[in-house]
Amino acid sequence: MNVVLFSGGTGTPKLLQGLVQLVRQEDITIVVNTAEDMWLPHGYFSPDIDSVLYTLAGLIDEKTWYGIKEDSFLTHNQLLSLGSDEFLNIGDRDRATHILRGKLLKEGNTFEEATELIASGYGVGINVLPMSNNKVETVIVTPSGELNLHEFLVLNKAMPEVKTVYYRNIERASACKAAVKAVKKADLLIIGPSNPITSIGPIISLRNIKDVLKDRKEKTIAISPLVGSNPVSGPADKFMKALNLPSTPEGVARYYKDIISRFIIHINDKPVDIEKIGIKTYRTNIIMRSLEDKKRLADFILSTGEKNA
Ligand code: GDP
Repeated sequence: MNVVLFSGGTGTPKLLQGLVQLVRQEDITIVVNTAEDMWLPHGYFSPDIDSVLYTLAGLIDEKTWYGIKEDSFLTHNQLLSLGSDEFLNIGDRDRATHILRGKLLKEGNTFEEATELIASGYGVGINVLPMSNNKVETVIVTPSGELNLHEFLVLNKAMPEVKTVYYRNIERASACKAAVKAVKKADLLIIGPSNPITSIGPIISLRNIKDVLKDRKEKTIAISPLVGSNPVSGPADKFMKALNLPSTPEGVARYYKDIISRFIIHINDKPVDIEKIGIKTYRTNIIMRSLEDKKRLADFILSTGEKNA
């Protein structure tokens, strides 16, 4: 069974830890959000790609779902002591990934080629694809101006009011050919429990993937990143409200309604309003703490796929 996942950098990587125990590596393709990427003085930062790669390599820092576990911060601390304004906390080994990616891009490699080379350096055999070879940037519009996601989350601690969110350059960007091909032949397409607006939104808004997704609706399932009206972590609710969606599993289902036939919500949440919009809804424990939780949720997702094969 060919399984394709759309991923951000926290919720879906947790699910991946379970999925890789159940599906052969060569049958998995992960299409990852790159709308949070940016050049930093030392290299190119691609946080969701790195979280996915570090997860698959067994290196992710599971306290933050960001960076490499037990990394050192010698360079970061040295920069601070020299008076540099370092708003991102970047570990030494994590920094090496950014340096290598920047070097590969400057040498003329595409994001896709750079990702493949870095994945192979980390011994990751699963096909990890950036959503696009073009630069797209998620922009958070606040009353005092536009912020990128890191400025919003880290510098401003997700405090400002969000007027809207948009993806800069999305209309000129296209999805990687390999991602479109994988989506076309997927037996099961999983929209992981990631932030719908900042992690999944950019992927599903790419023009050459949008139409393909509508045709693949019967094969597509999403998992709610929200339990009740709260995200398991992060500010997804704030972004959803800014886009006039209720911050509930139903709001997430409405956001995906043109591209999914099935949706998984938490055991205590109500499926009625989601079923009303024509989406078959399943209930189970969607909070992933232990590896057992992750494996069980992955198995549950696969079994809904089999029922619809
Ligand atoms: P980001 O790139 O770090 O924002 O990562 P993602 O978008 O992949 O993940 C953030 C989303 O994952 C948030 O909306 C969380 O609510 C959701 N999330 C985190 N942990 C879990 C979990 O255990 N279960 C579910 N269902 N969602 C989760």
